[in-house]
Formats: sequence, C-alpha cells, structure tokens
Amino acid sequence: MIKTGKTPQHQCSFCGRGEDDVMILVSGMDGQICEVCTEKAQEIIDQELRKAGVEPNRASAPGNASKKSSAFSGPLKVAPPRELKAFMDQYVIGQEEAKKILAVAVYNHYKRLQQLEKGIVKADDDVDIEKSNVLFVGQTGTGKTLMAKTIAKLLHVPFTIVDATIFTEAGYVGEDVESILSRLLQVCDYDEKAAERGIVYIDEIDKIARKQDNPSITRDVSGEGVQQGMLKMLEGSEVLVPPQGGRKHPEQKLVKINTHNILFICGGAFDGIEKIIARRVNTQVIGYNKAEAEEIDKENLLQYVSPQDIKTFGLIPELVGRVPVVAHLDPLDVDSLRRILTEPRNALVKQYEKIFALEGIKLKLHQSAIDLIAQKAFEFKLGARGLRSLCETILTDAMFDLPAVEGDKGAKRQLVINADYVKEKLEGAKRAKLKAA
Ligand code: ADP
Repeated sequence: MIKTGKTPQHQCSFCGRGEDDVMILVSGMDGQICEVCTEKAQEIIDQELRKAGVEPNRASAPGNASKKSSAFSGPLKVAPPRELKAFMDQYVIGQEEAKKILAVAVYNHYKRLQQLEKGIVKADDDVDIEKSNVLFVGQTGTGKTLMAKTIAKLLHVPFTIVDATIFTEAGYVGEDVESILSRLLQVCDYDEKAAERGIVYIDEIDKIARKQDNPSITRDVSGEGVQQGMLKMLEGSEVLVPPQGGRKHPEQKLVKINTHNILFICGGAFDGIEKIIARRVNTQVIGYNKAEAEEIDKENLLQYVSPQDIKTFGLIPELVGRVPVVAHLDPLDVDSLRRILTEPRNALVKQYEKIFALEGIKLKLHQSAIDLIAQKAFEFKLGARGLRSLCETILTDAMFDLPAVEGDKGAKRQLVINADYVKEKLEGAKRAKLKAA
C-alpha cells in the first residue's frame, strides 16, 4: 500500500476499507481516500458536469483507446508465498495444502510479471518461465472460489468468475469463450493493461468434460468443443474480445487482449472422480508394497488426485496440460464448519452481529448454538454454503421482529441464541415447509 500525506489513520473515510485492502490511501486534513473511491468520485463529478451541460475531458466508454488507467493501474506488488498464505489464512479455514500450492503458483506467476514490467527480464528471454494455471478439485462450498477471490484481492488485480457451463462452441447458442475476457475488461473499467494481468476463475470446469459413455458421432456442443475453444486462451494468445460481451452488440469494436499473463484458476467438484483415483491408486500399489497400500486414506481419496485422473474424467489432454498445478480441497468436517462460522475476517457470525448492532442489539451466539449449526450444515453436505441458509432460517424471525421501532431506539437490547433456540427455529421452518407442500 502506498501512503501519501501525513495523517496516520488507517482506513478510507469513504468506503471504510482498511489500508491492507487498498493500494493507495491519500490523506487529507481530516481523513483519507483510497484509489477506488477517487475513481468513483471522478465519475460523480463527470456525471454532474454532464448534467450541467459541460463535457468532461475524460472518456471511459468501452473500447475507447484513450482510456488506459483504472483503479488497478500501478506497479504490481507481490508478497512471498508465506505472506500470501498468511493473508489467505485470515479468510479461508483449513485447505492448508491448496493454499500453499496456490500461494506458490501465484507468487511465481506475478514475480515473473513484475520482472517483465520492471524490464529486469525480457519476454524473449531464453528461459521463459511458463505460467502455471491452477486447477482446484473439491466438493461444492469448500472454498475454491473464495481462495481465488481472496488472492486477487490481495494482489489488487482484476478478478472475475465465470461458469464454464454457459459456454458453447462458437456458432452455437450460448456465450463464446471470448466473453470470459469481456467480463474481465468490464471489472477493470476497460483498462486493457490491467485486464492482461488479471485472474479469471472458471467454475464448474468439470461440467464440460467429455461424456465418456457417449462416444458422440455428432459434435459435442457443450463439451469437447468448448474445451478446444479454451485452449488458446489458457495458454496465452491474442484474443479479439467484444468489450461489451455477447452478440447483442455486433457493432462494437473488438479489443485485442493478450492472455499470456492472465492467471486462470479452474475449479470443479468432479463428482465421481474418487472412483477413478481409487482404481489408479489400487493398481499402482498392488504387487508393490503392502504397507503403502494400507497407508492410503480411503476416506479422502481426493488428496491423491493427479492430472491423469482429470484426463480419465473427461478433460482433453491438451486442456489438462494447460492447468498444470492441481490442488485438492478437503471436504469440510464439523470442526472446520464451526471455525468458518466464527473465525474468518468476515465470518458469518461477525456479519450477523454487525446487522443486529445496527439496530442497537447485541447478538450473542452460545457455543452450543454454534456447535449445532455446524453439525446441521455438515448433515446438509453443502459445504460452508449450508451455514448461510441455516443462519438465515434461525435468525429471520428475530431480524423481522427486533428492529427498533420509533421510541424504542437507544434502549440497550440483547439477543441470546442457544441450542434450544436453534432447534426451535429449525423445526418450526420444517413444519412450515411441510404445511406448504
Ligand atoms: P466453492 O468451493 O463451491 O467455490 P465457495 O468458495 O464459493 O465454494 O464457498 C461458498 C461460501 O462458503 C463462501 O462464500 C465462504 O464464505 C464459505 N466458505 C467455503 N469454504 C470456506 C473455507 N474453507 N473457509 C472459510 N469460508 C469458506
């Protein structure tokens, strides 16, 4: 973070973001402003000028070649892997190995980029460090997206999430893979240079796997064709991108984006891959070493996942080759779910405490309530996603009834939630649903 000015306070007076979450904090007499809010303020000024009939001397129209900077401009800052992981630890519970693997991949990728930008190494250097796109394999709700999002936030690079299932081969109904880059451009306000060093998270990559039991004679519109379409982009090439995305704007001028330095993180649940892993691991150890065979943790086979298994699952070898860093995410046990409720910097419990505090109410969740919510979320098998819906079910009545009515404001109030309260609300919701059915 670059600090200018003299006030030693640590957050943006406009958006409240802390100094660790911003790149530049400009200090004034009584406060600070971060680079994002500066941009926003400029937009407001432009709007007001236009209303007053004055054309501002700036342009931020999509595809406008004169627009070259954004909130993401400025030199890259890369911390060493240990620091990257420590930052992720504040937001992501468990998943130690995945965090480590991601930290190393991200560090190597951006370090190289930083050297290129500083002119320390040349793009045509003999030893060109290839980029390491990452593949996350793990059940839904275990933190795959969260990890990608967190690392992008730390690096302060543009980040976007796309779902692989919405893409089709060029020429079919659906979106073309190029629109992945349109989204990235939009996130950084059409700052092409910033987009070219962004991070793209491609979710549900497993859903475009080739269907093994369907050796299709006709073309596989949703699977292999899309994988083929992604190859060049993942590897690094110049792609012509419709800045506004889609095909609704045929008149738009295409923008050339070089994807060589964009880091792609792909994620998927790969349902059923355990069987493939088991088969491979068993054939490998049979006849070799009995002790080794016994050491295999059959409860969590995902930890042994390899690019070979991904290929057997149905991703084409060329695509597997372009996401060489494979990391698994562990399923979340009750203890992890309990920690996720309370420990991360923006943990759910902290969020609800804040919502209630806005109404002057002190929310207190007993350990017994937290234990029960974690247990129930575990039974739901939705990973940490179940926690959110459970909390909503438990707290909706309170959020409906408790906000202060006029005259009540200022009174000190407290809401204590214990296991009995949780049980009562969950059973009540179940009864209501049965009645409605
Ligand atoms: P997915 O693995 O399906 O991409 P997400 O990363 O989107 O899952 O997780 C869904 C939500 O659950 C996130 O918003 C986050 O709050 C929470 N969550 C999931 N896994 C973790 C984790 N390991 N640590 C902290 N929060 C988590």
